[in-house]
Amino acid sequence: MSESAKVMLLGDIGVGKSSLARRLLWDKFEADYKTTLGVDVLAYDLALPSGPLRLILWDTDGDFGMSIFETVYMLGASAAVVVADASRPATLVKMASLARGFAERRPGREIRAVLNKIDLVESRTAQTPPEIDPATLARTSALTGQGVREMFADLGAGIVRRGL
Ligand code: GDP
Repeated sequence: MSESAKVMLLGDIGVGKSSLARRLLWDKFEADYKTTLGVDVLAYDLALPSGPLRLILWDTDGDFGMSIFETVYMLGASAAVVVADASRPATLVKMASLARGFAERRPGREIRAVLNKIDLVESRTAQTPPEIDPATLARTSALTGQGVREMFADLGAGIVRRGL
């Protein structure tokens, strides 16, 4: 049996969480896909140098905000991908508080901060919130696919490094 890890996708409504999951799983992008209501659970198998790892992606409805941490959805989460929309600065503030909230509740677990929709901005001009170490910030576009697979593979490697 291969190992699996539960990964929470967190971030404001419309930042592109579902689009990132669809790009990863099916390598496609649909501009008018309906937004997530509640939670979608999707599996993606990574082939890492250390062996196979199944990521179980929990794609949450942005309506949860910080209250996501009080729900049963968080149980057993190995990692979080906190997503912001590069074209909407307010979502970066939300991303930083979600990252902090996850780190407090699941200390020592992997977190990836993701600046999505990088196709909409000059990547050099997209600023990062002070709480987020720019070195740990992945820049992605679910539209073009830029950075998406790399980010999830890097996350998987980090999960294995830390232990599930
Ligand atoms: P969620 O609510 O966080 O799951 O966001 P969605 O995945 O539903 O995306 C919200 C909107 O942003 C949709 O209209 C998507 O087509 C669009 N979108 C998502 N990712 C990108 C991206 O990387 N670039 C651009 N230009 N649009 C995106």
